Amino acid sequence: MHTSRRGLFGLGALLAFTGTAHAAEMEAGGVLFALPVTTVPIVGSKQRFPVRRIYCIGRNYPAHAKEMGSDPRSEPPFFFEKPTDAVQYVEPGTIADHPYPSLTQMYQHEIELVAFLKSGGVNIPVEHALDHVFGYTVGLDMTRRDLQHQMGNQKKPWEIGKSFEQSAPVGAVTPALGPLAAGRIRLTVNGEVKQDSDIGQVMWNEAEIISRLSHQVRLSAGDVIFTGTPEGVGPVKRGDRLLAEIAGLEPLSVTIA
Ligand code: MN
Repeated sequence: MHTSRRGLFGLGALLAFTGTAHAAEMEAGGVLFALPVTTVPIVGSKQRFPVRRIYCIGRNYPAHAKEMGSDPRSEPPFFFEKPTDAVQYVEPGTIADHPYPSLTQMYQHEIELVAFLKSGGVNIPVEHALDHVFGYTVGLDMTRRDLQHQMGNQKKPWEIGKSFEQSAPVGAVTPALGPLAAGRIRLTVNGEVKQDSDIGQVMWNEAEIISRLSHQVRLSAGDVIFTGTPEGVGPVKRGDRLLAEIAGLEPLSVTIA
C-alpha cells in the first residue's frame, strides 16, 4: 500500500502514512491526509515544474474579443483562475483522451500560449516582468461556452464554464531562451484549421499581462498564465482530434473522449 502511494506523494507526505511516523505526526499536528502536487515535465530535463495557481486572461486578441461581442479597445485586461487539477498533462508526441465534461452542450476549444513563472512579486514593472518567466508551452483553455454565457448573462461568475478538472490540457514546459513575442499559433480539428493567428496579435503582451496581474495579486514561483486565444473558437464533439501548435514549442494533441 505504501509503495503504491510513492508515485503520487512526496516522501514527507509518505512518511505521514507509515506506522512509525504516525504517532509523531499526530503529536506535531501533521496534516490529516496528503494531497498530490500538480507538476508538469520540462523539455530536456528530469525535473518537473510545480504548479501553484493558474491564471487566464480574457479576450486578449482583438478579433476574438469581437467574436465574443465586446469592443477590444474599451476594456482593461481581466483575469480568471482555473484550479490546479485543471491541468491535463499531454506528453509530446502522444495523443491524450480529453474527457467531454458534464452539463454542457457547447464545449469549445481555445488554443493559448502558456507562460510558467519561476518567481513573482507585486507591482512588477513591465520592463522587469519577463525576468520572472521560466518557460512556455501550448495549452488549451477548454470552455463550457453555453454555461459561461448563461452565467455571464446573469452577472454571475464564469467558474462553471471555465474552472473544472482537466479543463486545461498542456504540453511539457520549454525553458525560455527569450521573450516569445511573435510566431504562428494554430489549432486544427480533424485536420481542418479553426484558429490561425500570430501571438504578436495580442492587445496585452506577456510583460504587460504579468505586470498588470501583479497589481491585483502577489505572483509567485509556480504560477501559470494562459495568455489568451485568437479568433476562431468553436465547438468540439466526442471523437474530434485537436492539434494545437505554436512556433518553437512542442505541439499538443488530444482526442475528445
Ligand atoms: Mn481563454
